[in-house]
Amino acid sequence: MNMPGSKKKVLILGGGFAGMYTAKHLERLLQPEEAEISLVNLENYSVYQPMLPEVISGSIGLTDVVSPIRRICPRSHLIMRDLEEIDLARKVVTVSPGFRPRRLELPYDYLVVALGGTTSFYGMPGMLENAKPFRNLADAVALRNHLIHALEEADVETDAALRSKLLTFVVAGGGFSGVEVMAELNDFVNSVKKNYSRIRKEKVRCVLVHSGDRILPEMTQDLALFAQRILARRGVEIVLKDRLAAATSEKAIFKSGVEVPTKTIVSTVPSTVAPVLQKLDCAKDKGRLLVNSFLELQGYEGTVWALGDCSSAKTKAGNPVPPTAQHAIREAKTVAHNITAAIRGGTRSEFAFEGLGKLGSLGHFSAVAEILGIRISGVLAWFLWRGIYLSKFPGFSQKVRIGLDWVIALLFPPDLVQLKMLRESDIRRQHFEPGEVVFNQGDFGDSVYVIEKGACEVIREQDGQPRHLADLGGGDYFGEMAVLADVSRNATIRATTPLDVLLIPKDDFSTLKNAVPAFGDVFKELAKARSGMAKSESRPEA
Ligand SMILES: Cc1cc2nc3c(=O)[nH]c(=O)nc-3n(C[C@H](O)[C@H](O)[C@H](O)COP(=O)(O)OP(=O)(O)OC[C@H]3O[C@@H](n4cnc5c(N)ncnc54)[C@H](O)[C@@H]3O)c2cc1C
Repeated sequence: MNMPGSKKKVLILGGGFAGMYTAKHLERLLQPEEAEISLVNLENYSVYQPMLPEVISGSIGLTDVVSPIRRICPRSHLIMRDLEEIDLARKVVTVSPGFRPRRLELPYDYLVVALGGTTSFYGMPGMLENAKPFRNLADAVALRNHLIHALEEADVETDAALRSKLLTFVVAGGGFSGVEVMAELNDFVNSVKKNYSRIRKEKVRCVLVHSGDRILPEMTQDLALFAQRILARRGVEIVLKDRLAAATSEKAIFKSGVEVPTKTIVSTVPSTVAPVLQKLDCAKDKGRLLVNSFLELQGYEGTVWALGDCSSAKTKAGNPVPPTAQHAIREAKTVAHNITAAIRGGTRSEFAFEGLGKLGSLGHFSAVAEILGIRISGVLAWFLWRGIYLSKFPGFSQKVRIGLDWVIALLFPPDLVQLKMLRESDIRRQHFEPGEVVFNQGDFGDSVYVIEKGACEVIREQDGQPRHLADLGGGDYFGEMAVLADVSRNATIRATTPLDVLLIPKDDFSTLKNAVPAFGDVFKELAKARSGMAKSESRPEA
């Protein structure tokens, strides 16, 4: 129970349906003087995943499918960083460095874990390199760009086999997300193809592969069969009782041995929890955090709650809670209530929501719905789908934008502009003027530097006194020690003349080191030599 004058720190990890709605409810339930609410999320927006497939065809604008967290939860302190570690014993969470290369430690009194799921390609050869996940806005934009690229290439390609590969699209997973992605993809490709004069008459092949004996296992048999018929009528090949097992840049390989030559593979399965939760030592069920019906983490009752796709929970009646948006939103209400009870000393409530129904869009004026036991399919279900999801979208302005997007999509053909904005590598040049600091002693080791032109000095602070250790010039490298050993910088680097460096971020450095062992060996040898010399205090270790 809260003592007068002691403001509690509530820390929410994840700003999706579960995390953002927890913050929203807490802002309503708690007074500012009772608690300080902080929320860590990778982005400064929350993605409305049920409508994400519509970004593929452009029937919803790129930024209209997300809600700015700062507007929805104005009182919460948003920290837009990657979460690195959760220390349940010390009650501290560590987040990645930002512009200032220092990790940030966030202490908490109450913790909410709502990190959702992540796509895992573990044990599936070639998938990481060749299959596209579909979970967030970047995935949707990347897929849309890729589809347009495939059409552009097919239009200039003279080799018939390659053209056919470019016009073949494979989606793995016949659940809601896989079916919705395939429906949108198929509609989009077929409708914009007429703008490409050379492939206008060519056949597009869309393949949906699913492990069960029918798609949409979440729905009743008749609705699933209705969806199958609709997709088949639109030309989608549905492969059942099989699954995607591997991928190359030329083909999708199914478990049965069937191979589909293609340049586009989208996977909506399988899902796992974020890496930071995989290494968390606590009660779990198939990797997901195990919580009781009050949504409290086992062993941390009254302090830590987990909800949404990253948790495994049962309702008050003992039924498993499925990983859906409608459940995540209701769980958020329960968690906010229980945190308030923990702070004020009230009665906790159990999670009792059993679901109102299920809705799945098939695009093109068709959907399937099962609401309060009533089954609907076709145009009526499509209007219901749009009406219900639009009404649930957080924020009035976003609702209006989506409504307008839909009207525009009805009146005009889909847009086929490709946005070339994603960079695969972040290796870049930087310039420093004399006296400017490249990095400080104690900073997180996030990059390695190669001096292209100019000079800098290495300074180490010892017993409160700065000591000049060395001068570096053209062709020298620095920063490798902290990156290789994953420790903080132990010296400061300052430009002594105008300095041009090539900056290799840690991830790119690791990729190069693993792919070209000789590259890694150069830096390992240098680090060894420098650490030996540093012991005799003649060379830097930065
Ligand atoms: C394509 C698609 C379609 C779907 N359609 C439907 C539907 O029609 N109906 C339905 O009910 N459900 C649907 N779902 C499922 C539904 O979206 C999820 O059940 C719901 O989003 C779960 O909410 P969540 O808050 O647990 O996770 P999420 O909404 O995924 O949010 C997790 C948040 O955690 C953040 N995060 C993750 N890792 C880190 C980290 N290391 N550091 C900082 N932040 C991090 C992410 O940025 C994200 O904002 C769909 C899902 C997908 C992918």
